[in-house]
Amino acid sequence: MSILSNKKQVKSTCSYCGVGCGVVLTDHGKGKLTLEGDKSHPSSKGMLCSKGMNLHYTVMDTSDRLLYPTMRYNRDMPLQRVSWDQALDRTAAVFKAIIKKYGPDAVGFYVSGQCSTEEYYVINKLIKGFIGSNNIDTNSRLCMSSAVVGYKLTLGEDSVPVCYDDIELADTFLVTGANPAWAHPIIWRRVEAHKQANPHIKIIVVDPRRTQTASQADLHLQITPGTDVTLTNAIGRALIENDWIDTDFIVSHADGFEAYKDQVMQRSISEAAEICGISSDEIYLAARYIHEAKGFMSMWTMGVNQSVIGVNKNLSLIDLHLITGKIGEEGNGPFSLTGQPNAMGGREVGGLANMLPAHRDLLNPAHREEVQAFWGGTKISDKPGFTATEMFEALADGRMKAIWIVCTNPMVSLPNINAVEKGLQNAKYVVVQDISNRSDTVKYADVVLPAASWAEKNSVFTNSERRITFLPKLINAPGEAKDDTQIIVEFAQKMGFEKAFDYQNTAEVYAEHCRSTVGTNIDISGLSYEVLQQKRSVQWPYPQEMAIQDPEYIGTKRLFTDNQFYTANRRAKIHAVPDQNQSEALSKEFPLILTTGRIRDQWHTMTKTGKVNKLNQHISQPFIEIHPKDAAERGITENQIVEVKTIRGEARIKAKITTDIKQGVCFMPMHFGKIQEKTFGRTNNLTNTLVDPRSKEPDFKYSAVQVLPYQKP
Ligand code: SF4
Repeated sequence: MSILSNKKQVKSTCSYCGVGCGVVLTDHGKGKLTLEGDKSHPSSKGMLCSKGMNLHYTVMDTSDRLLYPTMRYNRDMPLQRVSWDQALDRTAAVFKAIIKKYGPDAVGFYVSGQCSTEEYYVINKLIKGFIGSNNIDTNSRLCMSSAVVGYKLTLGEDSVPVCYDDIELADTFLVTGANPAWAHPIIWRRVEAHKQANPHIKIIVVDPRRTQTASQADLHLQITPGTDVTLTNAIGRALIENDWIDTDFIVSHADGFEAYKDQVMQRSISEAAEICGISSDEIYLAARYIHEAKGFMSMWTMGVNQSVIGVNKNLSLIDLHLITGKIGEEGNGPFSLTGQPNAMGGREVGGLANMLPAHRDLLNPAHREEVQAFWGGTKISDKPGFTATEMFEALADGRMKAIWIVCTNPMVSLPNINAVEKGLQNAKYVVVQDISNRSDTVKYADVVLPAASWAEKNSVFTNSERRITFLPKLINAPGEAKDDTQIIVEFAQKMGFEKAFDYQNTAEVYAEHCRSTVGTNIDISGLSYEVLQQKRSVQWPYPQEMAIQDPEYIGTKRLFTDNQFYTANRRAKIHAVPDQNQSEALSKEFPLILTTGRIRDQWHTMTKTGKVNKLNQHISQPFIEIHPKDAAERGITENQIVEVKTIRGEARIKAKITTDIKQGVCFMPMHFGKIQEKTFGRTNNLTNTLVDPRSKEPDFKYSAVQVLPYQKP
């Protein structure tokens, strides 16, 4: 930290999306902070989007902050201020009693891609290594888990092969199920600038909506939701038909091509085009753009991942890179854009119900033994824990009794909120650890623990390009709010695990995490707080031997440059993927498809962005986009309040009639909860709990709905 006269200043990282832009944060004293883009940061080069530019207001405005632990002994009484010892002593006593009576699987932690790597690490260690359950899952399950499985099945490891600098080296971009112009703006600005300087570059966008990103595309494939695999398989067929594949790469470095070819040849291009609701010419043109590219990057987010066939969508997309050999070289490769600032860090520490530290596999007995020996705790259970949606189902039916929710707001963000609410109401004990009382989930808590924000503690994040950065503490947390890592460490000690959680600071936690990665594909044994402070950021892997050999070493920019993949035989795996969608069926009663997404200036459930006036000026209220023909059929007019219904619940919001949405499809932003919108605009009242069977990621992008004018009773 540098000291400039009476100002303190640190270089840190934006704590919103997974782009991970560098910021310079200055404390002018008396609660005044300013913030600017960090020109020295390699990911963002000084740029910030509207959300990032206003990030400091979320720290300066403490009006919504949780300042003291609060607690209640029954749900009819209000939460009352208590000391930290009272809150943690009681919580430890309740957890011990529940574990004794019902077993360790009766408790669990639901965490967040906004948690730091250290926070994830200690929670994961506590529940898996000492309490003896694998019940930890994260809201990253809702956004990236299909990509994780896709990478593992094709490349042998949850590994994003590319880096942001590949953007300027690519000349065809396939952006699918994503609107980076709004959701990952600084990535998109780099694409835009590259296109402006090189007009021959082609941008293909796949989206049922004409988004800001789609409006800049050379080719917008406005497919029907759920037909993504049909499209990517058809592009694969067009590449094969035209002999635009890389046979040398396939023969030398990939398995599974013949089965893939058999699969994609089963459906003609014209049949696929009809299913997707686009033309055959558009499919051939997309294949041509990919073929003609020296550098081909695919970019995707929730439109691909948040699906009951999310893994299949990922596999068929990565297949396009493997059959063309467009991977492992500059400007080439699949690139999943992470939604949260440290979703990647959470995956590194294995903070999910089916993972162990350093991408080890919970179902692998050798991995379990290795981690158990490292932690020196109890035998790690071989039973995967409950995943995000399963946890709240387990609370509702009594299999789980207690949940500890850290830095996330499931009462807005999970699908089928009515079922989530039942789970929280039925739980014997709910702990909410957060910074803000703007979370709709707080009111279900028996204990509320006030946490420090990103500027008030030392922590580490990993962004979408495997870039690890240190976020230094600049200011003190308000009231009695504490660093999340410290909260968990103190709780673990009260549970009786003093020795294993005898950390003096978060640097020691991070050092232990780094040691746990030795011998794995994501080895970061050369890292520490000191290295990160000195080098600003590095990209994993970052093994100690490389760090010792080369003082200038900054990690691994690009993976698979030698075409040696992380699979057992070092060959990538091409998958034959069936293209049938498995979403809920449309019916006469519910004939429209509801898809959900993000708006430009809000982030997640608005607990931070919702309190920044400048950001609320862009779009301040929820809405539903509906095609003019669907609106006319129902007598719906612009701005009219409509009732949106599914079998699970309903919402009442304003209609926005637009040809930007495909006929038969509606769109609602996912951010709004009851707190922000009293007129009942919560989108996840409507969404369903179907999940992909392998990734357990929910099908947010496809719910069968009816939309009708709202009639006042
Ligand atoms: Fe923050 Fe993402 Fe915007 Fe960068 S692009 S400033 S990380 S919200």
